[in-house]
Amino acid sequence: MKREKKEITCIVCPVGCLMEVIIEDGKVVEVRGNECKRGVDYAHQEAIMTKRTLTTTVRVKGGLLPLAPVKTHLPVPKRKIKAITELIAQVEVEAPVAIDEIIVADVLGTGANIVATRSIPAKVEDAVG
Ligand code: SF4
Repeated sequence: MKREKKEITCIVCPVGCLMEVIIEDGKVVEVRGNECKRGVDYAHQEAIMTKRTLTTTVRVKGGLLPLAPVKTHLPVPKRKIKAITELIAQVEVEAPVAIDEIIVADVLGTGANIVATRSIPAKVEDAVG
């Protein structure tokens, strides 16, 4: 049986409990130091499959701004963040962009959508002549 101990700081609320997490054969079997049950859920998520919400930007063609801020609507496995970032770097969307618009659905099979976190109106071209 493989047994390991990890120290994980819960970031679910500002209390920031420092937890001791015992893992046996890849499963969390004990959590100490948490003030509430949400810490146990966080310890499971962190100890077994670390996930993060990714925030970045995508290029916008013809927008009032050249970039739109985006994020994953769900946390994604940390090990996929580099690949997702590289994929998003290749994406360019047409203005206008609406807030919460899905830019990439089910990014790399994670179940998370890349969504815009603000709207970017189209640039109004000056009339010529
Ligand atoms: S264990 Fe509970 S009280 Fe402690 S940081 Fe996490 S959410 Fe906050």
